[in-house]
Amino acid sequence: RVKERGKAHFQFYKTEMNSVGAHIVSLETHLRKALAKDEFMLFYQPQVSLATGKVKSFEALIRWNSKELGMISPANFIPLAEDTGLIIPIGNWVIDTACRQIKKWSELGKKGIKIAINISPKQFLQPKLVETIKESIRKHKIEPSLLEIEITEGAMQDTAETSPILNSLKELGVTISIDDFGTGYSSLNYIKQFPIDVLKIDQSFVRDVINSEKDAAITTTIIHLANSLGIEVVAEGIEEKEQAEFLMRANCHKGQGYLFSRPISATDVEFKIFNGNEEMVIF
Ligand code: C2E
Ligand code: MG
Ligand code: MG
Ligand code: MG
Repeated sequence: RVKERGKAHFQFYKTEMNSVGAHIVSLETHLRKALAKDEFMLFYQPQVSLATGKVKSFEALIRWNSKELGMISPANFIPLAEDTGLIIPIGNWVIDTACRQIKKWSELGKKGIKIAINISPKQFLQPKLVETIKESIRKHKIEPSLLEIEITEGAMQDTAETSPILNSLKELGVTISIDDFGTGYSSLNYIKQFPIDVLKIDQSFVRDVINSEKDAAITTTIIHLANSLGIEVVAEGIEEKEQAEFLMRANCHKGQGYLFSRPISATDVEFKIFNGNEEMVIF
């Protein structure tokens, strides 16, 4: 699915000649130069303990501020990065930046703060992923479990390659999370086969959890399943207080969404969330 979408983007943005014969520079050309021009940033969205209101983890979300094109959302360039292979250097930059941030926050006295990064399918299946992550953890001297790897169910489809990669990551000690849980074809099979630490309930279930009996049932079932397997469960896309209260009553461990905070810069995390509070209580 992601691939098809990516292809469509690629077609759309391919270099073209305009009427006077000049090349319109493609999105791809800009994307190729973006790393060297230092145009990427990681924003961090807090994950809030629904029992205590404490924040001990963040999801890192990439932002591309292109000098020529302005702000471009990851939904609009990650598929192109996947198709062109640029996801590998961009993904390596994400790994390095997140590990550096973990180190920095632990040096600021914020011990045990976790950062979750997103790994896309092509990045997940590249042979050097485990080595790159291992090297980055070593270079920045961080506790491996503080780095969380979010993989979508789509990336796990090829089970022959998936198991050894996930097992090596597990051996390394990083935290393994399934992103957008419940939207894939064999969600239950994945948690049966793979060493999963965290499930992230997809936003599409959380959105109507108050008004749809089906979404409420699916959401509570995922939470029960996670609880009985000793897996941590995080709900994404919480925008309303009623959703947070529902999830809290259902014993969902953590919540993430605009209700608590949008993704913000590392500096904003330090000023608005850490801000001298040992507890970092968000409500
Ligand atoms: P995702 O990993 O499922 O990330 C959650 C998305 O939901 C983020 O969009 C986040 O900003 C957004 N979100 C958070 N809270 C709410 C809410 O309350 N309501 C709504 N409507 N949305 C909310 P974003 O940052 O635009 O990222 C989109 C997707 O791009 C991510 O989905 C992820 O698949 C991908 N992505 C982002 N950063 C990276 C990265 O560094 N590497 C890779 N490979 N993919 C990334
Ligand atoms: Mg994610
Ligand atoms: Mg998600
Ligand atoms: Mg997603």
